[in-house]
Amino acid sequence: MAKVITGPAPIQCPHNGTGIIVSRQPPPLLTIAGMPALVALDAIGVTISGCTLPKPCTKTVTVLPAGIAIKLQVQGKPVLLANASGATDNGSWSVVPPVQTKLDAI
Ligand SMILES: [Zn+2]
Repeated sequence: MAKVITGPAPIQCPHNGTGIIVSRQPPPLLTIAGMPALVALDAIGVTISGCTLPKPCTKTVTVLPAGIAIKLQVQGKPVLLANASGATDNGSWSVVPPVQTKLDAI
């Protein structure tokens, strides 16, 4: 099992780029300790800044299946997990720990 991740959640690319995943879903949201659980869709199209590549990462493009809950959904959308990672437009991204530790999902 993996932890469900809440927003805002910092992410990074391997080249010093950073971004923040925030919830873009309409209420009501699943909240954990007052923070909204993120869904996989929230992690796509997130702006990345500060990447040091000549052609820098500027946004997230995909989420790998390992970072998406199989069963737990909010409004029919699978939630994002703390081990989430994926591709950017010129590399990869991953979640920066630490994250909330209260709710697990499979
Ligand atoms: Zn990068």
